[in-house]
Amino acid sequence: MAPPVRIAALGGLGEVGMNCMVLECDGRIAVVDCGILFPNEPFGVDLIAPDLSWLRERRDRVDGIYVTHGHEDHVGALPFLLRDVPVPVHGPRFALALVRQRLAEAGLAADLREAAPGDVRQAGPFAAEFVAVTHSIPDSCALAISTPQGTLLHSGDFKIDERPVDGRMMDLARIEALGRRGLRLLLSDSTNSERPGSSLSESAVGEALARAFAEARGRIFVACFASNVHRIQLVADAARAEGRRLALLGRSMEENVRLALDLGYLRLAPWQLVPLAEARGLPPRELAVLTTGTQGEPRSALARLARGEHPDLAVERGDLVILSSRLIPGNEVAIGQAVNALCRLGATVAYEDLRALHASGHAQEAEQRRLIALSRPEHFVPIHGEFRHLARHAAHAAAEGVSDAGRHVLVDGEVLEVSEAGVRRSGEPLPVGRVYADRDAADFGGVDALVVKDRKLLAESGLCIVVLAVDKATGAVVRGPEIVGKGAAGIEGREAEIAQEALRALADLSPQARADVGEVQEALRLAVRRWFRREGARRPSVLPVVLEL
Ligand SMILES: [Zn+2]
Repeated sequence: MAPPVRIAALGGLGEVGMNCMVLECDGRIAVVDCGILFPNEPFGVDLIAPDLSWLRERRDRVDGIYVTHGHEDHVGALPFLLRDVPVPVHGPRFALALVRQRLAEAGLAADLREAAPGDVRQAGPFAAEFVAVTHSIPDSCALAISTPQGTLLHSGDFKIDERPVDGRMMDLARIEALGRRGLRLLLSDSTNSERPGSSLSESAVGEALARAFAEARGRIFVACFASNVHRIQLVADAARAEGRRLALLGRSMEENVRLALDLGYLRLAPWQLVPLAEARGLPPRELAVLTTGTQGEPRSALARLARGEHPDLAVERGDLVILSSRLIPGNEVAIGQAVNALCRLGATVAYEDLRALHASGHAQEAEQRRLIALSRPEHFVPIHGEFRHLARHAAHAAAEGVSDAGRHVLVDGEVLEVSEAGVRRSGEPLPVGRVYADRDAADFGGVDALVVKDRKLLAESGLCIVVLAVDKATGAVVRGPEIVGKGAAGIEGREAEIAQEALRALADLSPQARADVGEVQEALRLAVRRWFRREGARRPSVLPVVLEL
């Protein structure tokens, strides 16, 4: 009897981002994607990675990592994993070029092995065939993974674009052939399952951009994701048609354009790129600018333009600003601020799918159903999405005839076992969680979850510091308590009252307790908290500081 195959996600089932899937068979392990999640709460954390300890503890059993495409939510956590689990990474060329760059920044090297559509790569008992799909980054692939329990198809991120900008079509014929041969399980991208119909072709965005460029009189700024090379190509083409030169703002935009040019994914006229110093002097009608900052990130080039703080360029009356991207839920406030500020500068701002200036990279209902109909899987697992996206995608599978017993809506950690006896949820879930990190940290190290919790608490209710000096020998109060508030409401003018409350608490302590700094700190903390509670005020974090003199 062939050994069972177990499948579980360490991330990406229950959230949009940090996609990471593990496959296990006969004690051997393969990984599909290892991405990060961008936090939308501003608590000084740049990124969130899945907790990879389950993999780290089994490092000797991991045979390889498959990468479907180069988006950060699919490859961004690879440095965290490869640092401890140095195994071969198989992936498309452009994805690996981005990974190589990220690893170099983290001071890591890895065994990166490029795979083209049709290539089959072994990792232990698994053999994955790369299958071309269309998506918002070049070279995206699905994976048809042969296992001792039949073939599994992992869609990666995909849409079915009939008119892709680079002419590289999704290989629907291959997927249909896999379905005819018998597909045990389909794992498919759920991001847009709530959107009916089909996504707009990327080529339609090119037509909309061309119209907008033809009408514009001032400078044109286009914000888009720096990895969306096809969109960048369309902007460059629209600019070229109007005789506009192209300037680049933002580090990732410069890096990715350079990389895409070097690798031949992007074609620009030789005269087209213009250095910023020269761009400033060009007449407005002769300049287009590609910029980062689609989500209103405060440190991005677009946000700095909106605040009038960019050192190289300024947005002026009559300019056109196009946000050629999706508004990621949670970023509405930051984006709104940027749009408001740009409007105040006198610019016309086009955003949120306005006039087809953006197309999603993810399949909508009709495309998701088409993939299910073509591949005819026995079993179906919706992946990549919040729970509501997964549930809706499962409903689409039902409408395509996948049986009740064949649909499995899993969340992070839940294990699905594929065996000769059937496909079912099994055993204890894998441990899952989130790791917070600062991108700038040299070692790409983590930020403790407690640190983030503290930051949230401080942001919500502020801090009250209680400073007390006591005599080391007798425990008698030498000075204080002094009360200092930071971001805490209701303290100003009432410090003396709070100090009295703290002194009364000290007076109630036994002589032994008075001699113990820990006990004194705790008494001060409780007393101050009691005061805030009695006043009905929002209770800040209380930090007692006891100095022994
Ligand atoms: Zn993607």
